[in-house]
Amino acid sequence: MKYYSTNGKAPIADLQKAVVKGLAEDRGLYMPERIKPLPKEFFDTIETKSFQEIAYTVADAFFGEDVEADALKKIVYDTLSFDCPVVKVKDNIYTLELFHGPTLAFKDVGARFMARLLQYFILKTQNTQKKLVNVLVATSGDTGSAVANGFLGVDGIHVYVLYPKGKVSKIQESQFTTLGKNITAIEVDGVFDDCQALVKSAFMDAELNEHMKLTSANSINVARFLPQAFYYFNAYARMKALGKADRLVMCVPSGNFGNICSALFGHEMGLPIHRFIAANNANDIFYKYLQTGKYEPKASVQTLANAMDVGDPSNFARIYDLYGKSHERISSLISGATYSDEQIRETMRQCYNETGYILDPHGACGYRALQEGLKDGEVGVFCETAHPAKFKETVDSIIGADIEIPERLAAFMKGQKQSVEMTKDFKDFKRFLMSR
Ligand SMILES: *Cc1c(COP(=O)(O)O)cnc(C)c1O
Repeated sequence: MKYYSTNGKAPIADLQKAVVKGLAEDRGLYMPERIKPLPKEFFDTIETKSFQEIAYTVADAFFGEDVEADALKKIVYDTLSFDCPVVKVKDNIYTLELFHGPTLAFKDVGARFMARLLQYFILKTQNTQKKLVNVLVATSGDTGSAVANGFLGVDGIHVYVLYPKGKVSKIQESQFTTLGKNITAIEVDGVFDDCQALVKSAFMDAELNEHMKLTSANSINVARFLPQAFYYFNAYARMKALGKADRLVMCVPSGNFGNICSALFGHEMGLPIHRFIAANNANDIFYKYLQTGKYEPKASVQTLANAMDVGDPSNFARIYDLYGKSHERISSLISGATYSDEQIRETMRQCYNETGYILDPHGACGYRALQEGLKDGEVGVFCETAHPAKFKETVDSIIGADIEIPERLAAFMKGQKQSVEMTKDFKDFKRFLMSR
């Protein structure tokens, strides 16, 4: 499979180049040249297949030309060492629980897949190239922990996690600052967008790229975002088994729009989702785009759902490209929602009191968008993108409970924090990397 850039000026790349480079030379995002529709027979019997079987079929459509069947199957099965179940919350509203992985958020799926695919390519080219591969990743919370844990201890790869000082929760921070080994945490005096800008500048800097081999693991990387399609196919299969898949509305709490973008790719492959909802917190750039047809990025604002505090969602470029830049096509398939912190709190309380289900602040946006937006005859599935215990203090104080911390999360919090302080000035970041 070949990959082109959304900006249309960079050369066509193969999968290995697209994965290692992350961002194309013209700062565009890589897109697969073709999206292969899956045959009708696959959907006819999908409910009889396991998550791993479904995922392998989807993976084969994207990566089968570039990775041998055995190797790809192993990557898929190793990645999905945990389930992504669909759970009923109340009549016609179900949640796709994406928090059963090692760091309790959906990003585990993409990060684990990418780490394994990158390692596959490194091993393949090991004889000709001995250089260490350096993964740079900017995080507003959950990306950093998923990527760091996905790559932890993987030979030949070093990971730098850039995060905004004081703007991620203690629990989130502990998941990428306590690991040591091949993981370095960098605490940037700025906001998430500053971290993202530093990473983007590093990729564009010729001298730095001469000095070290750099690769991105943000949701812009095709090896991270495409595998997220796996769990949407699985969700459809499980809903079909319940006889609830006829008019399925998929609602995705969105920040950088990588997660919903992978669902849209699934839809292009024939996944019978009736329509989509992108649920936002107060960072409403996409919501505004849907209303006005104008995409106007702005500085992000801090909210309770901090992993969605994004003022210029990078995957917008992919969605725009996927639908031929047509606002009409985009807004007829996807609708939007935007919620203030007060509405998020209210929703978490209301859902807990009414159903007993504990939402995290991100999932709360999804739940509310379905509650407000579902039409007669539709069944909604919203993604629970993180375990509520990742935001324990917030969740406890909102719903007035003392929620349990899963063992694998508690383990992180016992570790010692190690991090490097950094300004948001690219010169400082570059000097640091040049000295490595
Ligand atoms: C990253 C993240 C999101 C946003 O996902 P995007 O792919 O960036 O849209 C939502 N919720 C949680 C908990 C996250 O970690």
